[in-house]
Amino acid sequence: MIDSRSFPRFKACSGILVNNSKGFFSGASLPPEVLSKPSAIDIVYQDWASNSEKHVKKNFINTCRKELDNWLFSKVLDKNMSILENTKLVDFFYTHDKNLIVLLLEHNGKTTSVVTKYLVGCDGALSIVRKKIFSKNIRYYVAIQELISGFKLDRAYFIFDDEITDFYGWLIPKGDCVEIGAAVSPFKAKEKFDLFKKKVSEKFGITGDGKIESAIVLRPSSLDEIFLGKDSIFLCGEAAALISPSSAEGISYALLSGKYCAEAFNSNLKSKMESYKEKCKPLLKRLNKKFIKSRKMGNPEDRKLIFGG
Ligand SMILES: Cc1cc2nc3c(=O)[nH]c(=O)nc-3n(C[C@H](O)[C@H](O)[C@H](O)COP(=O)(O)OP(=O)(O)OC[C@H]3O[C@@H](n4cnc5c(N)ncnc54)[C@H](O)[C@@H]3O)c2cc1C
Repeated sequence: MIDSRSFPRFKACSGILVNNSKGFFSGASLPPEVLSKPSAIDIVYQDWASNSEKHVKKNFINTCRKELDNWLFSKVLDKNMSILENTKLVDFFYTHDKNLIVLLLEHNGKTTSVVTKYLVGCDGALSIVRKKIFSKNIRYYVAIQELISGFKLDRAYFIFDDEITDFYGWLIPKGDCVEIGAAVSPFKAKEKFDLFKKKVSEKFGITGDGKIESAIVLRPSSLDEIFLGKDSIFLCGEAAALISPSSAEGISYALLSGKYCAEAFNSNLKSKMESYKEKCKPLLKRLNKKFIKSRKMGNPEDRKLIFGG
């Protein structure tokens, strides 16, 4: 496995695990260092356009993403897997007979090549693997979040405000801190986030400055934009655009598509790609419902019906 970052890996992410992620762990409990406080959270949906709110019992798991990744990678290393960190995939192409793929890698300023039979791109929202074999551009947002210390919440808030974004903003409890975040369109992203922070301080009294982190998050608009791969090149997780367009929840899709891809390789079936696509069908079915939900949540009138405002 190669990754352009160093380990333990840091990825800007709130680390909320929905029920489908819980299914991945099939009942195995997460070690305490992975959990944030409170470890189980419910959601209050607030619509600032109609001044309404809805409490929903979710029982999601609140994790620290860095610790979660660290723990997951330690499990993989147990299985005799090696990781080349600080190693970036810069390009790749098939050999003339199409039997092998040549990868060009950059490590410490040096370029090397590696030959492989299969390539599995799990390289996230800006996947170089996807961009080379799939021509569609997928809408994306900038997700910015800031950890403010000295404030406690006992639940998370998902906030809709059309002045800030047609996606949403959030407040998530993280121990003695609150994470303020918003997924906004790239133009004047920081200004939009600052306006959101100002409104949060007025409505919740949460103020101050903390550590800011941000990353690109994809927001696909239909199943046509999901691409699981072609021939000997597979895509998993956000690289395949497997992410909820209504909540930007991507961990469960990354975990499950990675698992299905591994199962397809271990199945010894002739077409690993067909097997992978077959296994991913439930993920696509789930996403299809999210596309409908996302269109409704983006429309203030439809939202009023959902919120009962
Ligand atoms: C601010 C924010 C908050 C979020 N909160 C949540 C949440 O609470 N719950 C949730 O479910 N989802 C959340 N998401 C979405 C979630 O983080 C992603 O969907 C998920 O991490 C996707 O996992 P992945 O393994 O596909 O990609 P990633 O976790 O992005 O991993 C991609 C990896 O590929 C590596 N890479 C990229 N390019 C190259 C290259 N050229 N060569 C080598 N390596 C490369 C990167 O270094 C990285 O390690 C959030 C996203 C953001 C931005």
